Amino acid sequence: MPYAAEPTRRSVERLTDASAVPLWLDTADRPAPTAPLGGTEQCDLAVVGAGFTGLWTALLAKQADPQRDVVLLEGSRVAQGATGRNGGFCSASLTHGLSNGHSRFADELPQLLHLGEANLAAIGAAVAELGIDCDWRLADDLLLATDPHHVADLAEAAELAGRYDLSAELLDADQVRERVVSPRYLGGLLEHDGLALVDPARLAWGLRRACLDLGVRLFEGSPVTGMTTDGAGMRLTTPAGSVRARRVALASNAFPPLLKRLRSYVVPVWDYCIATEPLPADVLAEIGWAGDEGLADASNQFHYYRLTADRRIVFGGYDAVYYRGNGFGAHLEQRPATAALLVEHLTQTFPATAEVGISHSWGGAIDTCSRFSPFWGTASGGRVGYVAGYTGLGVGASRFGAAVMLDLVDGRDSELTRLAMVRSKPLPFPPEPVRGIGIDLTRRAFDRADREGGRRGPWLKLLDAVGLGFDS
Ligand SMILES: Cc1cc2nc3c(=O)[nH]c(=O)nc-3n(C[C@H](O)[C@H](O)[C@H](O)COP(=O)(O)OP(=O)(O)OC[C@H]3O[C@@H](n4cnc5c(N)ncnc54)[C@H](O)[C@@H]3O)c2cc1C
Repeated sequence: MPYAAEPTRRSVERLTDASAVPLWLDTADRPAPTAPLGGTEQCDLAVVGAGFTGLWTALLAKQADPQRDVVLLEGSRVAQGATGRNGGFCSASLTHGLSNGHSRFADELPQLLHLGEANLAAIGAAVAELGIDCDWRLADDLLLATDPHHVADLAEAAELAGRYDLSAELLDADQVRERVVSPRYLGGLLEHDGLALVDPARLAWGLRRACLDLGVRLFEGSPVTGMTTDGAGMRLTTPAGSVRARRVALASNAFPPLLKRLRSYVVPVWDYCIATEPLPADVLAEIGWAGDEGLADASNQFHYYRLTADRRIVFGGYDAVYYRGNGFGAHLEQRPATAALLVEHLTQTFPATAEVGISHSWGGAIDTCSRFSPFWGTASGGRVGYVAGYTGLGVGASRFGAAVMLDLVDGRDSELTRLAMVRSKPLPFPPEPVRGIGIDLTRRAFDRADREGGRRGPWLKLLDAVGLGFDS
């Protein structure tokens, strides 16, 4: 049965006391920001943006060459962007799932799967070696059938996983119930070895600490407002200073980009989450969830959810909202209608949570591109590199994205830079108003397909035919 299209008044009321600060950032452990950039600096490599991509870029650059002078410029604070706002699902997938990878990069997918596994393992190893306390846990990925047509979709996904020798187990409703109990579950697909759950902000703060320890010069509160060529290098300007850098790595994700060309490839799509208070023992017992899985349902407009270390449920997704004209800003971080719908859907999923408080409600922007997986490039004669387009699956892929970007700005011919995925670009989005109309049409078509037994209507079929389709 599809999820409710409207929240009840009760679901709206349950948000009254929810904090608007993302759960992960709402702690006294958040490190105080560094001083902003002032005056004129020089460096070998300047990284713009200190989310996961920028932090990994700075860290990997320093680890490879401790003598390299690296400056990291962050407009706000470390992890203030998507990095501190996500569900904390750290996936091995570099292609936003197997099905998307298969439809776009089938020839090199075995290599991409191998690189993705190595990337996830490297993040785990860094967490251990750097002693980052971030609730890092390897977990199973459990994709749930919540509508009858999902059962066949999951069987198809299991068959595809088998073709790539991935361990994926089809579960019937009783087998799902052994792991987690919901009246909505009709079956599941359990995937092993491809996921870790993490507290994303603590991971980012651990990477921040590691960068500082290695001598990265971090300037928070330093938005880069201009980027120009300067002799053989580049000059970056902030409100109170400037940096001349031999090379620049852009890690600004869904934020308005410094490079104009990125505007046609990336649209900010807003995704929202809620978190409950820690679940009382009797509620947890009724749900029967030990919390060793990251959960998501198999709808086009899907929910993703997981338990935290202190046994809250973080529940997000479903509505993905585009605001015309690449709408962006802190004023979009709250969307009460979507938050109330998430409360409603959480209660439909787990009726036992009906009386549990909702502690946090927040949103963030996803750097959506038309191939739903990252892309890279260089500008200004190779002096500037960029990566963007993770489309909501960048917690893990951002480390890979950073490694590729470093190879590109350093002009290295490597296994990574030779990948077709790295050498190709997504199709650009059309300008407004066609852009907004197309995204609205797609969202409505997804909703209709979810409510009509998964049948993809003419618009989704057209997108599939031109290579713009996405089937979660
Ligand atoms: C609600 C939500 C849920 C998500 N859930 C998941 C999930 O469970 N799993 C998953 O894999 N992915 C998830 N994602 C996506 C994931 O969070 C991102 O892909 C990832 O964090 C991207 O990291 P980043 O460093 O590229 O971007 P960001 O974290 O957005 O960092 C970009 C940084 O650049 C800075 N910046 C921008 N412009 C400038 C400038 N001009 N000058 C200086 N600084 C600048 C910003 O202030 C920001 O700190 C989710 C995203 C959202 C919003």
